[in-house]
Amino acid sequence: MTLVDDLSTILGHMDNLNSFNLDKMEVELVNGKAVYRMRTNNGLISMNELIGCDFKIHFDKEINCTNCGKKIPKTYSGGYCYPCSIKLAEADMCILKPETCHFANGTCREPEWGLKNCMIPHYVYLANSSGLKVGITRTTQIPTRWIDQGAVAAIPIIKVGTRLQSGVFEKLLSSEVKDKTDWRKMLKGGNEEIDLISRRDELFELFGDDLDDLENKFGSDQISILENEMITAIEYPVLSYPEKVSSMTFDKLEVVGGKLQGIKGQYLIFDVGVINIRSHTGYKVHLEL
Ligand SMILES: [Zn+2]
Repeated sequence: MTLVDDLSTILGHMDNLNSFNLDKMEVELVNGKAVYRMRTNNGLISMNELIGCDFKIHFDKEINCTNCGKKIPKTYSGGYCYPCSIKLAEADMCILKPETCHFANGTCREPEWGLKNCMIPHYVYLANSSGLKVGITRTTQIPTRWIDQGAVAAIPIIKVGTRLQSGVFEKLLSSEVKDKTDWRKMLKGGNEEIDLISRRDELFELFGDDLDDLENKFGSDQISILENEMITAIEYPVLSYPEKVSSMTFDKLEVVGGKLQGIKGQYLIFDVGVINIRSHTGYKVHLEL
């Protein structure tokens, strides 16, 4: 079977010239393995099936706001036009800095959205992405959040009642553990093994008094210190990791592609470089097989 036959089977014979706006790839953990799907106007493409294949993504030189669809020269806050970026709660600064959540002050840009997305239980977790990191996520976003970050293992360590609380705990722990992923390192693979359970116990020991104080502050019905959670291990569909990570973007290139070596986090790893799909949210593209 030729490559094109392969691909047209995968794409369900979709017209490969049809354009669509990129969005973060949908992810799922199946038997410990990360599964990726790209949403197009013609349905989902199973990206795992494309690994080992040669294909190109063409930028149609049009970007649309993910919220209102308006044609825009560049995106703000990860896929929005400027007006939407200052109007939507999900594009507010407090999403990046959860400890600054201002819902309680009555100043949430969209209180209904805040109620559904921020005033709900969250986890503080430890993960091995490019090394040890601490992070937060809605309880419903596990393991999605971990796959999006390219973590090879993760474990929830504290359950809290709101996004704000998770941010306060994260900020505390981030004085000892990184809260960012070094994406270049993450994309080189070869993660050092980290004993997440020992590291968790060390942090609980080190921050014992502070954790108690926060538990008293927020109320013990809001906070659960998790001492018996299981580690989730995640394998990525990668044939080989690049020695040198060179980043490709549609802000500089009209066409990106080559032989797909693998997928990790929200990155496609081609033999000629990597592209962060999520950071191109709203970019209109079409595929060439
Ligand atoms: Zn907009």
